Amino acid sequence: MKTTILGYPRIGAQRELKKACEAFWSGKIEEKSLLKIAANIKRQNWLQQNELGIDLIPSNDFSLYDQVLDTCLTLGCIPVRYKNINKNNALELYFSMARGLQNKNIDVTAMEMTKWFDTNYHYIVPEFEKEQTFKFFSKKIINEYKEALELGIKTKPVLIGPVTFLLLGKEKETGFHRLDLLDKLLPVYLEIIQELTNLDVEYIQFDEPCLALNLTDKERQAIKLTYTTINTKFPKLKIYLANYFDCYDKNLTTVLQLPIDTLHLDLTRCSMQLSDILESEHFNPSIKLSLGLVDGRNIWKNDFEASLKTIEKALTKVSSDNLWISSSCSLLHTPYDLDLETNLQPEIKQWLAFAKQKLEEISTLKNLSLPENEPYLSLYEENKLANINRSNSKLIHNKVVKERVSGLKELDSHRKNNFTVRQSKQKQALNLPLFPTTTIGSFPQTKEVRSWRLKLKKGLLSQEEYDILIAKEIKYSISFQESIGLDVIVHGEFERNDMVEYFGEKLNGFAFSDFGWVQSYGSRCVKPPILFGDVSRDNPMTVKWSTYAQSLTKRPLKGMLTGPVTILQWSFVRNDQPRETTCNQIALAIRDEVVDLEKNGLKVVQIDEPAIREGLPLRKEEWTKYLNWAVKAFRISASGVQDDTQIHTHMCYSEFNDIIASIANMDADVITIETSRSEMELLNAFVDFEYPNEIGPGVYDIHSPRVPSLEEIENLLLKAKKVLPVEHIWVNPDCGLKTRDWPETKKALENIVQAARNLRKLE
Ligand code: GLN
Ligand code: ZN
Repeated sequence: MKTTILGYPRIGAQRELKKACEAFWSGKIEEKSLLKIAANIKRQNWLQQNELGIDLIPSNDFSLYDQVLDTCLTLGCIPVRYKNINKNNALELYFSMARGLQNKNIDVTAMEMTKWFDTNYHYIVPEFEKEQTFKFFSKKIINEYKEALELGIKTKPVLIGPVTFLLLGKEKETGFHRLDLLDKLLPVYLEIIQELTNLDVEYIQFDEPCLALNLTDKERQAIKLTYTTINTKFPKLKIYLANYFDCYDKNLTTVLQLPIDTLHLDLTRCSMQLSDILESEHFNPSIKLSLGLVDGRNIWKNDFEASLKTIEKALTKVSSDNLWISSSCSLLHTPYDLDLETNLQPEIKQWLAFAKQKLEEISTLKNLSLPENEPYLSLYEENKLANINRSNSKLIHNKVVKERVSGLKELDSHRKNNFTVRQSKQKQALNLPLFPTTTIGSFPQTKEVRSWRLKLKKGLLSQEEYDILIAKEIKYSISFQESIGLDVIVHGEFERNDMVEYFGEKLNGFAFSDFGWVQSYGSRCVKPPILFGDVSRDNPMTVKWSTYAQSLTKRPLKGMLTGPVTILQWSFVRNDQPRETTCNQIALAIRDEVVDLEKNGLKVVQIDEPAIREGLPLRKEEWTKYLNWAVKAFRISASGVQDDTQIHTHMCYSEFNDIIASIANMDADVITIETSRSEMELLNAFVDFEYPNEIGPGVYDIHSPRVPSLEEIENLLLKAKKVLPVEHIWVNPDCGLKTRDWPETKKALENIVQAARNLRKLE
């Protein structure tokens, strides 16, 4: 039995890579310094794994920006628009593809980015042309292997498999399917493998997470072709095939028949997989199994007792020599090191394991499976005690919350009356014009505003002083909104660091790390709250600032909350109860907040749910189940109010086609969505479905500092008017304005209000 992992975090324990990249981009450090910092991180990662007992350590899992972008460069899959960039300046080319480049000679856009499966990590989307060619271009994979070798570590290079690489990309022309490019791509893979085997590489890890998706026969055929070709050409190479985030499911028979050395199983996402394999008629005990027992997507301590049972079960059919103990997926999705956390409550801390602790767990699991495991038994006991403590802890379990969730009734997820009845009551209560204007909630979070929060945290500002500053900022934003004539006002969210963290900090059941950063894309990292226990709300969370804001204006003020699904989705969540249960707990806390806002005189409340779509399971057959409970949780949060209180929701993405029925089923009185960049094309889903409630298609792309002209906005609205009932249309930006500056925000919003006025004149 041996240990391995699929990949390690690469931003550095203190986010060194983030800082170095950003310094390099802004010209503060030279390429040499950036590469030195990168080399150091790789080195530390390898030595750390070596020291903590990982037998087969990955390489080429490091990336300066993104591993899919790295693969594009490895395979010479470089879109033509970058042809004028000096090919000898590797970093300039690389970062231009990642982030675009604008200087006096060149103006190229970045490649598109999208979410990596169901994670919050974003990868660069490969682009393919009909006549696409490939070549072995960047030698990163070779160089990293050599770098590790210099430390005396013979690594397992990681390479995204050709089928996944193609499937993750996009055709930039019509007339072909990207999978047809496999014939041209495979020879380049063979070239890479040749060069690696020339260096005596023994194992190569091929990541094919597309195997967790619903594949067509043709796609499965491509997998078969790929790995039989590689094996025929390199019979001695040990192919370590990795799929993660879900079961192999219908792809299992295919992979079991492949001529590979090792098949990896994500046993945290798909625990039944092992039995399925051991019992399969296609199971070949000479193929090694890599047991992904240690969760790479979450921060909980492993349950040694359960894991050892799984190992035992594997041992009934597979010899010990043919087993790997591994992480479920790359540890990229977990923070670096729990030891750095000094402010976590000790009781909670003992339940957790970050990447470094997960390495220890993996090697301990191996050691505990050895016949002479005595020296490790104390670790087993320790693990057991921590987990027993967790399952009984008073910090986690709150009887009242549990009873409230189990007592939920069908009626709790229904407003008193249907939308038509509510709409007419709200019309009376709010008295808004046609094409009412509003924003999505946040106003510019200037450096100053952020500095106040930091000073408060460091004790350089008292709570009173901080509150006075926030109040002033709210007052300023409201007088601005009134002055330009926005119809539904917001307070501006100046007091919030982050739309999930803000609520997590006020709710019971959440803990916060100081260094629990996880890469989201490029140099961007997020620090998800740790949702460890039953969620409850002791006190109102937003009433103070919302009522203060409402007191400053006669126009309706829109209270601003984050929805239960988004809070769930953007946290590290419990693994000791179904996500649905946790989500319902959050929903009830948000519901109480909505009701409190109403009690305090607010007539409009927005419950943001930007993360509903990303929670979709990888396999379509599981979508309905998820959507049912997610939509229900939203409805629970929204249904405590009277008919004349208007509930808004907001989602900042685009692809609604396949979930439009569920979005409609959320039954928000108003939904605001992101549409401006697609020229209202994204509205089609709503139009085709005859979306019944009111809708605000975004008319201002807030991702860009560009101010949309009055004419542009009018044109967008005219387009919307053609396809939607006039009395359903709202006018608003795509999303919150927190990343924008005041000057552009002001101009853009002025144009928005004017456009709405001009449209009203046409009615
Ligand atoms: N209300 C939030 C804001 O305006 C919404 C952000 C989001 O959808 N991601 O910033
Ligand atoms: Zn948004």
